[in-house]
Amino acid sequence: MIPSAFEYERANSVDDALAKLAATGGAGKLIAGGHSLVPLMKLRLNEPTTIIDIARIPGLAGVREDDGVIEIGAGTVHHDVATSAVLRDQCPVVSDTAATIGDPQVRNRGTLGGSLAHADPAADYPAMLLAVDAQIQLQGPGGTRAVAAQDFFQDLFTVDLRADEIITAVRFAPVRAAAYAKLYQRASRFAIVGVAAALAVADGVISSARIGLTGALSSAVRLPHVEEALVGQAPTAETAANAAKGAGTSLSDVNGDLHASEGYRRAMVSVFTKRAIEGALARV
Ligand SMILES: Cc1cc2nc3c(=O)[nH]c(=O)nc-3n(C[C@H](O)[C@H](O)[C@H](O)COP(=O)(O)OP(=O)(O)OC[C@H]3O[C@@H](n4cnc5c(N)ncnc54)[C@H](O)[C@@H]3O)c2cc1C
Repeated sequence: MIPSAFEYERANSVDDALAKLAATGGAGKLIAGGHSLVPLMKLRLNEPTTIIDIARIPGLAGVREDDGVIEIGAGTVHHDVATSAVLRDQCPVVSDTAATIGDPQVRNRGTLGGSLAHADPAADYPAMLLAVDAQIQLQGPGGTRAVAAQDFFQDLFTVDLRADEIITAVRFAPVRAAAYAKLYQRASRFAIVGVAAALAVADGVISSARIGLTGALSSAVRLPHVEEALVGQAPTAETAANAAKGAGTSLSDVNGDLHASEGYRRAMVSVFTKRAIEGALARV
């Protein structure tokens, strides 16, 4: 389908993007890679009067490291996250997750910020950002704020992002012992179920665990019951299996659709939770 008529503007800075967005009085939309917004516009589920292109704002893309904290600019395309030497070296779960997204065309155009703002329930980044305990950096007319990933993902296509704000970056302390395991939807490669696990081991036992789940519910969530089952245990395959066993059964409102029934998704949550924990243990 053909989208409704719209104006196109290109922003040359974050402040410029915010000013242009404000000037539309709430009827405009930012566009980064366009891989989620354009399909919605073609279906006329979204009909912005103006789209404000943020894809070429200097400094909005890139992976930076400062004083033990990694920052990924919101404009960074998935391919650059997947191939970043800093991420591969210090926090490979982030690159691994990006590498599972879509196909080369999607990875070369789609951005981290676009994925987070769109908040598809089957998107990959949210599970991983929950596991590495990331902070989402936002800028709006009133200044900047940071929201923990745990508070950011709220519901189906709903995040803690105001219509007049822009996501500028994501920040986290790197975690080496972390992994992402995903059951692909064969055509789009979106997650039917995706699980990220991040662990710390001290004195021969798992001292902390964060497990993020995507694809199974209306938005990404942590799995506290699995995390509790891991902490204090030996970092072994048996621990992974025990902790993951009931991961799917205790969830409520699990999605069922043409790609996977509710029961199948529940079963796969346990399978992929085990694989993610095993992957993280292999990196301890
Ligand atoms: C064929 C196909 C396969 C895909 N497979 C996967 C997959 O396997 N896994 C997966 O996770 N995703 C997948 N995606 C989604 C893909 O990752 C998109 O690129 C992503 O969801 C949106 O990023 P974008 O830069 O294209 O955003 P856009 O489409 O440009 O924007 C999406 C929304 O985010 C807003 N926005 C964009 N940037 C910002 C910002 N910095 N601050 C605030 N708001 C912003 C826009 O206003 C819009 O509302 C797939 C997409 C396609 C088309």
